[in-house]
Amino acid sequence: MNHVIGYQCTTCQRIYPRDITFLTCPDCGVEGILEVLYDYDAVASHVSRERLRDDSTPSIWRYLPLLPINGTMIEDTLRVGMTPLYQARSFQKHTGLHHLYIKDDGVNPTMSLKDRASVLAVVDARERGYDTICCSSTGNAASSLAGNAARCGCRSVIFVPKRAPMGKLAQLIYFGATLVRVDGDYHDAFSLSQKAIERYGWYNRNAAINPVMVEGKKTVAFEIVEQLQFTAPDYVYVSVGDGCTIAGVYKGFRESHRLGLIERIPKLIGVQSSGCDPFVRAWKEEKPLQPQKEMTLADSIAVGVPRNPQKAMNAVKASSGSWVSVSDALILEAMRRLGQDEGIFAEPAAGAAFAGAMLHQSIPGATPEDTVVVIATGNGLKDTKTALDAVSEPHLIKNDLSEFIAFYHNETQRRKHD
Ligand SMILES: *Cc1c(COP(=O)(O)O)cnc(C)c1O
Ligand SMILES: [Zn+2]
Repeated sequence: MNHVIGYQCTTCQRIYPRDITFLTCPDCGVEGILEVLYDYDAVASHVSRERLRDDSTPSIWRYLPLLPINGTMIEDTLRVGMTPLYQARSFQKHTGLHHLYIKDDGVNPTMSLKDRASVLAVVDARERGYDTICCSSTGNAASSLAGNAARCGCRSVIFVPKRAPMGKLAQLIYFGATLVRVDGDYHDAFSLSQKAIERYGWYNRNAAINPVMVEGKKTVAFEIVEQLQFTAPDYVYVSVGDGCTIAGVYKGFRESHRLGLIERIPKLIGVQSSGCDPFVRAWKEEKPLQPQKEMTLADSIAVGVPRNPQKAMNAVKASSGSWVSVSDALILEAMRRLGQDEGIFAEPAAGAAFAGAMLHQSIPGATPEDTVVVIATGNGLKDTKTALDAVSEPHLIKNDLSEFIAFYHNETQRRKHD
């Protein structure tokens, strides 16, 4: 038995009981994204600072009382979550900050934060009696669903846009998913997957639609709270595509606050690439989101038509946060510095959040003393082609010491100027 008491429509605010079978509000249609409501007084008797300190569960299942599942199958899953939080002692110099932390979610089982949502989706699907799960994705949700489904004996059917990088496709094919490569962009992949789900009655893992996905993603905030000894950071940088991740991060901090684990909610900074930044523009112009082209190397956040803008907009607003755009050039620089300064291999969408933090001083009210957490949402091994763009291709030299000496001299000079 879990502590869910119902669902609330984020558009019309109507509340529904816990036993509904629809995914979105019937009154509002696809715009009516639901949010899971819990009996927090009941949760509080299971989740407290003391209880968490004594709990050695090395995964997101340590937050089971705050998740919308019964938990009968959690023994069978991949180990997701409890990823490290590092102080970025060298990288923080490039931001002018003294207390910058990296939450490295690139070390999850399929190497992205998406595992937090996928593992929960798979358990939820199994508890509800489904054997096939479907999603559309720019890549990470897909490979993540494929891996987590494989582990739990579920089938997965995955729709990807044409430009999804091969590294990510390799991962999901390897995990045995049925791959549907759609000749079009993310929007096309998404709408075809919706039709197929309706036709075949599969479990729907589309993050913007299924309220359970935000519930998985919120666990990253619980971990940050614990890893900072139950103090809230001042700011958290999150890269944004569809907006589901930042919505989850916000919900995690809000619930931590509700349960007395932290005294206040950090300001959330949503980071997008200037090649595709519908949220940033809508926020600046105070207008609804406009569809945008997807022109950035940060493929995981190249979402021209976000599916669930409301929850993300609200997360930033309610936390008194802000939105920033970063150029692809700054993303590459952030990736290179993260690698060389901290030994963290970030994919471009993760690098974007760090590029955002490099501009921290431009946020009104920001100071060098702020405690800032940046979430590294995905691992660079997923897209080594772009990683090489951020640095330089390797040289080939002959088996000859004098050639080596010349090469090494050049290399040392180059690094000095870096
Ligand atoms: C999905 C993803 C994001 C953004 O998450 P949204 O929910 O689409 O906003 C950021 N970084 C990486 C690596 C991702 O895979
Ligand atoms: Zn509604």
